[in-house]
Amino acid sequence: MRIDIVTLFPEMCENLLAESIIGRARARGHLQVCCHQLRRWGEGPHKRVDDCTFGGGKGMLLMAEPIAQAFEAVAEHTGVRPHILYMSPRGRVLDQEKVKTLAGYENLLILCGHYEGVDERVLEEYGVEEISIGDFVLTGGELPAVILTDAVARMLPGVLSEDVCFEEESHFDGLLEYPQYTRPSVWRGRAVPEVLMSGHHENIRKWRRRQSLLRTQQARPDLFGKHALTREDQRLLEQK
Ligand code: SAH
Repeated sequence: MRIDIVTLFPEMCENLLAESIIGRARARGHLQVCCHQLRRWGEGPHKRVDDCTFGGGKGMLLMAEPIAQAFEAVAEHTGVRPHILYMSPRGRVLDQEKVKTLAGYENLLILCGHYEGVDERVLEEYGVEEISIGDFVLTGGELPAVILTDAVARMLPGVLSEDVCFEEESHFDGLLEYPQYTRPSVWRGRAVPEVLMSGHHENIRKWRRRQSLLRTQQARPDLFGKHALTREDQRLLEQK
């Protein structure tokens, strides 16, 4: 998979995406990430990319043309029309379902806004999908773009050590993850739940499932409400 990021701060994205699991995934070729400086396609000698908003109001807006040229340049370079995303507080809020869908594309192009945002027309012209990372406002789209890239990248085959890593995690099947423990088995007087030390795989599986259900019910009643309980889930929840 290839992800292109168009931004005024390419180093910001590049630095974060060079580290750890994502950095290794890129080095091994599971994922290609290219960060592009929007100013490259800016206007005039000063490579201008922003201007005031029509109709008044404070702040500057990124102009349509430099963005359009960036989109065209990326598409020309890769030879494919990527699925284009704009990180925006107006977008649909990112969740694991959406991450799974996005991980299915071969080419994604992410536009990071800054200042007040971008000229609406360029979003219309390219059928851009707007994605938010939550109901709050940040200063720029760079951190959201990195978050989206990270979430998508870890779904790609080979990026995590075993596929099971994400299949049992929070949100993968609409539930939150069960509690986990490592050594020592007693820490400051707190013992690890006995069942986990028993080696009885079926009991461990059931305990974990029950904990996932309880956690989700408590912490995220909204998610719990959407989760279709199986017969086993119902039985586990009735347990004392
Ligand atoms: N005036 C805009 C906010 C601009 S914030 C509005 O009211 O919708 C500047 C840039 O930060 C945005 O263009 C966007 O790219 C990014 N951004 C801010 N909050 C975000 C969020 N919650 N999710 C994704 N991107 C966000």
